[in-house]
Amino acid sequence: MNSVILNNGVEMPILGFGVFQIPEEETQAAVEAAVAAGYRHLDTAASYGNEAAVGAAVKASGIARDELFITTKLWIQHAPTGSVEEDTKRAFENSLHRLGLDYVDLYLIHQPLGDYYGEWRAMQDLNREGRARAIGVSNFHPDRLVDLIDHNGTVPAVNQIESHPFHQRAADQALMVERGVQIESWGPFAEGKNDVFTNPVLSTIAGEHGKSVAQVVLRWLIQRGVVVIPKSVRPERMAENLDVFDFALTEENMSRIATLDTGGSLFFDHRDPAMVSWLGGRRIS
Ligand code: NDP
Repeated sequence: MNSVILNNGVEMPILGFGVFQIPEEETQAAVEAAVAAGYRHLDTAASYGNEAAVGAAVKASGIARDELFITTKLWIQHAPTGSVEEDTKRAFENSLHRLGLDYVDLYLIHQPLGDYYGEWRAMQDLNREGRARAIGVSNFHPDRLVDLIDHNGTVPAVNQIESHPFHQRAADQALMVERGVQIESWGPFAEGKNDVFTNPVLSTIAGEHGKSVAQVVLRWLIQRGVVVIPKSVRPERMAENLDVFDFALTEENMSRIATLDTGGSLFFDHRDPAMVSWLGGRRIS
């Protein structure tokens, strides 16, 4: 498996398996199948409600812990104790407990909302203690990312953001490269929106290489140096999504895919006040 080296030297597989929206009762079987297919990088979050099932699958797999790269995410903390730092550490312990792990490879601030400075201070402690080998953020627009970097000691290792053919984030990626932050895509297939799997440009390129549209999309992201974590509950698709290292897209293919960018989210804007309020109102420990 190809990997990237994060800004603190930690190695991260460039392709992993995401478990968002897999119902808790189906997650253990899905993750067991993914690990059996060859995935060694798993992406979950406290807010997905399936950390315990991911942990159970990891245990059942028998794979040595140090051969796996496991990410989870901190939900927005509300400081009922009066200390966001303490709440962050407690939320982290809860995630570790659910996962049945002693440490995670990557711990992300899930949303750029609430007192994420306090959260980041606590996460820097967790990183120093080795309990989170790397720490990063998710859904941070460039302005928020630069602000966090400029006023803190630790530069986030990763920023996990929406990135797919219809919202490519090339300028955001350039900024991240400049600042030493690894870009990671969520929703590489835009969850199937915009008929991505039958898109004419992607289908033509897929035909040229004897590959599927899904494989072309993942290959396109990987060739851009973007970490990808596609989700599927179907073993045949898990295998298909892993099988992207035996071909390469040409410069011309890459340029044609670049024309699909709409420059905007297909989901929601983290700067939309209604969405900020809705996300901020969710309580997850
Ligand atoms: P994806 O873009 O990965 O799309 C998943 C969808 O594509 C599912 O409906 C799946 O169906 C289908 N699919 C998967 N592989 C194929 C294939 N080869 N051919 C055809 N259809 C396919 O969406 P996600 O939102 O799940 O994003 C990936 C991961 O990113 C998440 O699981 C999560 O870990 C992370 N994420 C993070 C967010 C954040 O805020 N930080 C937000 C959203 C996601 P099926 O399962 O039936 O195969």
